[in-house]
Amino acid sequence: MNAQTPYALKSYICGDWKAGARDGVLLRDAGTGAPVATIDASGIDMAEALAYGRASGAALRAMTFHQRAEMLKALGKALSAQKDAFHALSLATGATPRDGMVDIEGGFHTLFSYSSQGRRELPNTRLLVEGPVEGLSKDGSFSAQHILTPLQGVAVHVNAFNFPVWGMLEKLAPTLLAGMPAIIKPASQTAYLTELVVRAIIETGLLPAGALQLICGSTGDLLDHVTGQDVVTFTGSASTGRMLRTSKAIVENSVRFTMEADSLNASVLGPDAVAGTPEFDLFVKEVTREMTVKAGQKCTAIRRVLVPRAQADAVIAALGAALGKMNAGLPGDAATRMGALASHAQRDEVRARIRDLQADGEIVVGDPDAVSVSSGDPDDGAFLNPVVLYCDKPLSAKAAHDVEAFGPVSTVMAYDDLDEAIALTQRGKGSLAASVFTNAPEVAEAAVLGMAPFHGRILLGNRASAKTSTGHGAPLPNLVHGGPGRAGGGEEMGGIRGVKHFMQRTAVQGTPALLSAVTGRWIEGAPTRADIHPFRKSLETLQVGDQIVTATREVTLDDIEHFASFTGDTFYAHMDEDAARANPFFDGRVAHGYLIVSFAAGLFVQPDPGPVLANYGVDNLRFLTPVNPGDVLGVRLTCKEINPRENAEHGEVRWDCQVTNQDGAVVAQYDVLTMVAKTWPQ
Ligand code: NDP
Repeated sequence: MNAQTPYALKSYICGDWKAGARDGVLLRDAGTGAPVATIDASGIDMAEALAYGRASGAALRAMTFHQRAEMLKALGKALSAQKDAFHALSLATGATPRDGMVDIEGGFHTLFSYSSQGRRELPNTRLLVEGPVEGLSKDGSFSAQHILTPLQGVAVHVNAFNFPVWGMLEKLAPTLLAGMPAIIKPASQTAYLTELVVRAIIETGLLPAGALQLICGSTGDLLDHVTGQDVVTFTGSASTGRMLRTSKAIVENSVRFTMEADSLNASVLGPDAVAGTPEFDLFVKEVTREMTVKAGQKCTAIRRVLVPRAQADAVIAALGAALGKMNAGLPGDAATRMGALASHAQRDEVRARIRDLQADGEIVVGDPDAVSVSSGDPDDGAFLNPVVLYCDKPLSAKAAHDVEAFGPVSTVMAYDDLDEAIALTQRGKGSLAASVFTNAPEVAEAAVLGMAPFHGRILLGNRASAKTSTGHGAPLPNLVHGGPGRAGGGEEMGGIRGVKHFMQRTAVQGTPALLSAVTGRWIEGAPTRADIHPFRKSLETLQVGDQIVTATREVTLDDIEHFASFTGDTFYAHMDEDAARANPFFDGRVAHGYLIVSFAAGLFVQPDPGPVLANYGVDNLRFLTPVNPGDVLGVRLTCKEINPRENAEHGEVRWDCQVTNQDGAVVAQYDVLTMVAKTWPQ
């Protein structure tokens, strides 16, 4: 793209790239001020876009979780192959190549991570079963099961300017995995990069038609048409978020609304982490990094730097020295350590917020009005050097806990004891992330207990994780991203939890047979089948409910003693009659739990080579009744769940295994997990 010739961004709506009806607002390169693109989405029929998305959802819902997970992986690979083009354009947003990696590779990582979690943690089905079966009748004829199914609307994702790629993909990955189509609305300022990536996504042909639409420009009346089957997520300023959250259709239709807004994140230097300790150095490094990565335009960046009063001077001196080396300049220049803010408007905004913060503190590092750059023109680019303020009386401060200067700006605050530091973190009124740098377990425990209700994520930093820590400011796909109160009250990602935001949880009540038919899982009381041994069946013929009731076997004292000497497990309850009797749970010597499990396997296996390839574990193993010498055991093994793997010749089969004694009492209950071939002979 020629940076001098702005091109008109288009929206991808109803399967077509559409230009806005007007000329569009000019978007400039953050580092040079050169025109990049124009943006306008006027004239687009937003109600039609929503209707098209909703109608297209059926194709996604027809896919299984594993098929959608494979799609995310293929998408991640296809986009990775084009990353150079994305990085080249990313420079125009003011991001250095290192910043670009957080946005671009960070976004791809989210796709890969959700793909892998989807294949590992979700069944290869179209609905999710959640929690245990709830028995609702004494005779077992009426039960309930919670299930989750994809919502049948569209997920509208309104994103912030600071992460044009990651911001889209961190929301898109769980949305698509859940089986919901999405409409992405990037912030205008950096929408050209989102548009380029969406073009690449569409060109892969990997997504079903309608699974992804893009609005470059204003959303117009889109949010007037959302229904209870749609989801809206928002990342940006608290004021816009509040306005959207209380808009008519969202309130009237109880539309799920996830908000991630301003966050005055704190980092605490522990009372033990005095100058000269590794934790002190790590803390200074982390604050420096958080202030300068993306020029501080990160929702998780450290805004409040809480330090023991006696360490304040040392911290300010160390930050001054470290930040002094962070050359601001053109994002693509090798000497640049910190890029530009996203726009001149954003720089004006940050300067205004610094003035607000000065009500509570003095500037001790940097000068917001005197810009020095190692490359580029300080007036053409939206540059700003790091600014540190010092607040001596943070308990009585207001602005320091309320004003988010969305740039390379932090306030150092002195605290007198750990309780005060904890109270100060809470003054943020709810934050996305916090960190505590300490090598003292008691400090970590007290800090986390006091801070956790106010935070979505807390990082504990010390010398032992110095090399492996992912850092204060890095949201991770498998961890919750979001925070209470001021941070918006929402949760994003957090592994499979994030997928469930796009699904409806329903309690289904009925007979076990009907529940089993709905969920595809065998449950107690549902029909069973006993023909040939189920271990002789490949996935072609095996069905949930296939069952074997085994012959029985007596457990003798010799068996117990043999097992004890063979394994070395000579625990008194198996070996010493008097000691076992003195135990409140036993009436004399008892068999080892693992002996019971081993005998059970000996009873239920069919030993010949066959479609069962491996036993890879057991789940939920419980020993429920003690087994004494002379007890007679039998096993009931029932095929409970079948999960054929995509792109593999086998699948996972979960078996309900119940071991009973001569009186019919259940002595052990567990799930046996096996790999079974799709066909046999293979
Ligand atoms: P905004 O709240 O103005 O914009 C966020 C998103 O909402 C953008 O996509 C914007 O689109 C869109 N938007 C704005 N108005 C509407 C509307 N009426 N209907 C639908 N969508 C709308 O925030 P900014 O991006 O301008 O950032 C402002 C401040 O927000 C920052 O300075 C910072 O303090 C904070 N912020 C916080 C973040 C966080 O995660 N904690 C992240 C980013 C910003 P458009 O760009 O087209 O207006």
